[in-house]
Amino acid sequence: MRHGLFFSMLLLSSVSLASPQIPGLFDAHLHYNADQVKMYSPVDIIRILDQNEVNTAVVTSSPISLALQLHQLAPNRIIPFLGLYQTDKDKQAWHQDEELPVRVAQALKDPAWRGIGELHLFAEHRHSPIFERIALLADSHDLPLLVHTDPVVIDRLFEIATNITVIWAHGGAYPYPELLNDYLKRYPNLYIDLSMRNERIAPEGMLDPEWELLLMEFSDRFLIGVDTYSTQRWQHYSALIDTTRHWMDQLPLEVEMAIGRENVLRLFQSRPEKTTTTVN
Ligand SMILES: [Zn+2]
Repeated sequence: MRHGLFFSMLLLSSVSLASPQIPGLFDAHLHYNADQVKMYSPVDIIRILDQNEVNTAVVTSSPISLALQLHQLAPNRIIPFLGLYQTDKDKQAWHQDEELPVRVAQALKDPAWRGIGELHLFAEHRHSPIFERIALLADSHDLPLLVHTDPVVIDRLFEIATNITVIWAHGGAYPYPELLNDYLKRYPNLYIDLSMRNERIAPEGMLDPEWELLLMEFSDRFLIGVDTYSTQRWQHYSALIDTTRHWMDQLPLEVEMAIGRENVLRLFQSRPEKTTTTVN
């Protein structure tokens, strides 16, 4: 049985991996939601990560218990982020939910949480007092805030809390190297996850020269991920991580190591988990 599993994993690895330049990636942007559990159990999720030589991952979930379940199954590998959405509608309306900051403060009593998000916010809602309170909670707990948002919201975040750590999902709403260069220069605690941007970074698989320069200049500030917001994304996980690996392999090894693993490891090593948690 064990041998059977071993060989099937070996086979899957050889299919999905074209001799990776670096093993043990860190996926900094995973979702594991109620609709995905029907197809993938927590054990299945860990198996997918294993098959793709992804050692560690940030996982956010709705309901929040799912990220904790995965963390409990693989405590050294899963970094749970506190998701704030109970239903799909919350994605648009959370910044008007007066009760949300209280619920978040309550949830953060569990020391298992290592970050907050993903939060979606358009520029016109950046002065929401709810947003401000969530940002202040992230800052006071020294937790990174994962945001999917417009550039001006990033400015607003650092206005609210100068020292907050922000992970800007997908390189922001306008992922242009020149714009990102400007933001990275201005905000030393800003990190950028490159999930969903394979086509821009490497059109037809070839690393774009402007992106290459940006990744080299700020090699300590980028993270990678697959952003499994849908079941379909989990189904295509191997292909998506391979595409990401393909452009990363075109970078110098130390830059690839930084982006593929070391940057995000450093982010959490400087904020160790306080105690272990239990899931009821
Ligand atoms: Zn996402």
